[in-house]
Amino acid sequence: MLLAPGVYRIPTLGDYINSFAFLDDDGQVTLVDCGLSRAPARIVAALAGIGRHPSDVTRIILTHAHADHAGGAKQIVDQAAAEGVDVHAEDADDIRSGTIPPVAASTMGRLVARGPMSHFEPVAVSRELTDGEELEVGRGLRILHTPGHTPGHISLIHQTTGVLITGDVIFHMGWRDRMRWPVSAVCTNATLNRQSAHVLAETEYDIAAFTHGPEIRERAREQVRDFVRRKSA
Ligand SMILES: [Zn+2]
Repeated sequence: MLLAPGVYRIPTLGDYINSFAFLDDDGQVTLVDCGLSRAPARIVAALAGIGRHPSDVTRIILTHAHADHAGGAKQIVDQAAAEGVDVHAEDADDIRSGTIPPVAASTMGRLVARGPMSHFEPVAVSRELTDGEELEVGRGLRILHTPGHTPGHISLIHQTTGVLITGDVIFHMGWRDRMRWPVSAVCTNATLNRQSAHVLAETEYDIAAFTHGPEIRERAREQVRDFVRRKSA
């Protein structure tokens, strides 16, 4: 699914869980998120569809340490040129240990913390990311620290094409594909997540791409801004 020149969305469970690939002029691929443990086959097939092999993947970025984003990471790393994943410093230990950060202290939260989504295959960390840093992907892939869903959650902006990847700060799915907040039971701090959404409302981009749900191409920034203003206290 082409989002912009050299930028692809890879649906790994319908549009419900997405990975993203950035193809650089020299053929190198940067992958964002690796889906559930069964997603790697889909990711590899999608790469083949754009004439790339996992060995072309030189960088793997994870938006956060949850099983639906990091579950396939170890399998991808094993096939890729990258030796580990890039993740924000505050989620790095969870990635190394294959456990999710603390979730809400609610009944649902306790179920999540004990359930099958509470862990994933541990994977090595190549680089710990920090807020505002720009990775050499196209004219720059900017890291925005957007904590709350997890302590080290990040969103990304591809400067070349104006594509924003929100991560799990905002979902875009369900009835009529409306924007919505992630379920608070799976957030470390749902209030902080909503505050982080203001960062996305105030930043410049042309296309809003979501880890959960299809992208918004028309008036993306305005729509995100409207949602955040309407829904935040
Ligand atoms: Zn998620």
